[in-house]
Amino acid sequence: MKQIQIGGLVSFTTIDFPGKLAAVLFLVGCPFHCVYCSNEHLIPLGNGEYDPEKVFDWLKSRAGKLEGVVFSGGEALMQADATIEYMKRVRDLGFAIGLHTNGFYPELLKKVSDIVDWIGLDFKATRDHYKALTGLDIAYNRMIESLQYWVSLGKGIEVRTTCDPRFVSKADLLEIAKISAGLGVKDFAVQKYTPYHEAVGQETTDAERNAFFEDDALRDEINALFDHVAWRNS
Ligand code: SF4
Repeated sequence: MKQIQIGGLVSFTTIDFPGKLAAVLFLVGCPFHCVYCSNEHLIPLGNGEYDPEKVFDWLKSRAGKLEGVVFSGGEALMQADATIEYMKRVRDLGFAIGLHTNGFYPELLKKVSDIVDWIGLDFKATRDHYKALTGLDIAYNRMIESLQYWVSLGKGIEVRTTCDPRFVSKADLLEIAKISAGLGVKDFAVQKYTPYHEAVGQETTDAERNAFFEDDALRDEINALFDHVAWRNS
């Protein structure tokens, strides 16, 4: 089996794993090509620049100080067995395991269901915009399958939508929230889109990006659907 490939690391975070002091590992490889990706260097499934055994030794030194480790990316499940084996080793150090995922691998999500304690799942757009945003036709259906599966487990899940006005309207955001709530999601996050790079002629404006956060009626309607909604306006 190929060794896990790690392309980035955050040594301490209080915001990426709810209720836990955590580290984040960014794994290389992602099947999507999201138009707004801020981690483009992590998309190719190549070699990561971090030595996995050195990272593991460092994690060992953090046991008892940090509570959790989040596997992010890229798409952490794209490395399949290499990710799963490493997750098990990290869990055996005593850490809770979090996973940030785009939901493209429901079959692998099932394989990690006894290892992972919580997931943050991207629900990127309504079905009709998924392909234009991610580059993949089947991405929406797979994400929904992942969402339904994880909710059925009763384990922690936050569904998040990044509001790129080119692909998500306020009506779309409400539709996404209603679908998520209808499938049993209790925690939802609305994330502000940050324009790292935009093609000429496709630029968004501050007003368009902020519009999702300035509509009190929309906010009230979405807040009423869930136990908790995070409005991440930065
Ligand atoms: S799913 Fe995430 S890492 Fe993959 S292309 Fe999209 S934004 Fe980038």
